Amino acid sequence: MITDANTVPRNACLYAEVCVIGSGAAGIALALTLSDKGKSVLLLEAGYDREDSRTQALYKGEVSNEKLHSPPDKYRQRRFGGSTPIWGGRCVPFDPIDFDTRSYVPFSGWPISYKDVSPFYPAANVWAEAGRCQYDADEVFGLASVPMIRGFVSPVVYTNSLERFSCPTNFSKRYRNRLQRAVNVRVMLGANCTAIRLQPNGQQVQGIDVATLSGNRFSVNAKMFALAVGGLETPRLLLASRDVSAAGIGNEYDVVGRYYLCHIAGSVGLLTIKGSTNVVRHGYEVAPDGVYCRRRLSLAPSEQRRLGLANMVARLHFSGIADPSHRNGVLSGLYLAKNLISYEYGKRLDDGGTATFATYLRHLRNVLTDPVDTSAFLLHWLTKHTYAERKFPSVILRNKTNRFALEINGEQIPQATSRVALIDATDELGVRRLRVDWRYSPLDIDSVRRTLDVFASEFERCNIGSFQYNRDALGEDLMRYGAFGGHHIGTARMGNDVRTSVVDANCKVHSVDNLFVAGSAVFPTSSQANPTLTIIALSLRLADHMARSLSDVVVSPTVAGLGQ
Ligand SMILES: Cc1cc2nc3c(=O)[nH]c(=O)nc-3n(C[C@H](O)[C@H](O)[C@H](O)COP(=O)(O)OP(=O)(O)OC[C@H]3O[C@@H](n4cnc5c(N)ncnc54)[C@H](O)[C@@H]3O)c2cc1C
Repeated sequence: MITDANTVPRNACLYAEVCVIGSGAAGIALALTLSDKGKSVLLLEAGYDREDSRTQALYKGEVSNEKLHSPPDKYRQRRFGGSTPIWGGRCVPFDPIDFDTRSYVPFSGWPISYKDVSPFYPAANVWAEAGRCQYDADEVFGLASVPMIRGFVSPVVYTNSLERFSCPTNFSKRYRNRLQRAVNVRVMLGANCTAIRLQPNGQQVQGIDVATLSGNRFSVNAKMFALAVGGLETPRLLLASRDVSAAGIGNEYDVVGRYYLCHIAGSVGLLTIKGSTNVVRHGYEVAPDGVYCRRRLSLAPSEQRRLGLANMVARLHFSGIADPSHRNGVLSGLYLAKNLISYEYGKRLDDGGTATFATYLRHLRNVLTDPVDTSAFLLHWLTKHTYAERKFPSVILRNKTNRFALEINGEQIPQATSRVALIDATDELGVRRLRVDWRYSPLDIDSVRRTLDVFASEFERCNIGSFQYNRDALGEDLMRYGAFGGHHIGTARMGNDVRTSVVDANCKVHSVDNLFVAGSAVFPTSSQANPTLTIIALSLRLADHMARSLSDVVVSPTVAGLGQ
């Protein structure tokens, strides 16, 4: 059932076995899996189906340096489905090494291993509509597999690892009917959790406060609560809930909001491949299950360990879209359209205001003098992206020059000083807003630099081409657009040590018996991988744990039902 929070009688107290707060990928996967296991769930969602500026404004906050991190109301959506209506759909599981304690990555090491999460990846792939859980090109394409770069065979640089693409699935649309039909799930839209109230001993959630923008107020009581509100809102709610502890919930050691991670990302250097253009396969391939896939360059885990490097991948990318000398009509068209694209997708096309009128004219000339490619691209985009159910993931063109930039997606090294914290200003519902102070470390840049050096020397050793980049400007290149948006990680990290973590191996807040966190806030390290597939996998694991724990306790009839 899907209802509106404004229909709840004012000051009522609702009951459910489990209350899940937030209906993004994490919350929907968690709620429906719990329901499949026979548990009754109340799923509270702040927003409605569409983006609405008043609701979205509840996400506003400050950033310490806007060049490094976008404002907190960008790159996330406060609405039914969370950010999935705008996500890119790139799905990649974490690597086994990501869970390990690595002496050269401070604060690394999860309290669980890859083996604890991997059983949930196949189902996570299904939730994300990313096809089979196969991420190795040879496994996926078998005898039809064509190498990424012909002649490039390296024991330390892999080219076989794939990323798969979701439709991209908008979770509110895709799972709406299931949520509507499920007898033991009640979804409540427009329901903003404004505070979590603890029992006086601080060890149990007593209830949560809920408010709507139309002025309704009520509370919810449940056996268990799960925060699935995303990597920025989770610490915000924990820190803002101060009725028992002045420092907020789970914050006895000042860890909530700290160790904030994104990904280190940027387009770097120039890779020139020898030979004809069909030596390289840099674009999308369609797997036998119909899912778009793409290969990446990655460094063998043994080599990461030997050299003390964080995890990182690189994709072959266009070099310099903003520079019209590429003479490509499609790229120029994309550049000219950047102001029409949403903030999130236009940001990385921005040239920092350096373009002159002449630059725009040269881009326009490229479009006009390249009508065949431009028209072919438009037709392809309309049929395979705009009007397709499973969308061609992004603009990739046949490369006529065999020259590429490397598009980096790198793990970031955790540090306590990278953090989000509350400020005095409050939102319309009276909840204190966030200030984001995202920081990176010279170690992050150095790790990318040394990984690129391995790539460069392996390209040369295999005589397939050369890779050059400006070593001195690497930090600037990687930080041109700041932190990679949309990946909000580590702000309620998982661990065994209460002094450096907020939740335990079961995603339960250490100090509170019935409060759990679903989402990337719990990741202690960020991997090279985009977060959502692992968010879903961990939500499914959490559902198993919560359902098992609930079955161990005798549930009273009022709490088991969804009454008022
Ligand atoms: C432009 C863009 C592209 C992206 N591309 C990719 C990609 O290709 N691959 C990938 O893996 N990831 C990608 N991401 C990241 C991905 O979208 C997120 O990892 C994922 O959506 C997070 O899911 P979530 O459920 O944890 O959080 P969210 O999606 O943030 O959902 C949180 C939910 O909680 C609700 N909520 C918040 N506060 C409250 C409250 N107080 N009370 C009640 N409800 C509340 C929100 O309305 C929202 O519905 C992208 C993100 C963006 C912005």
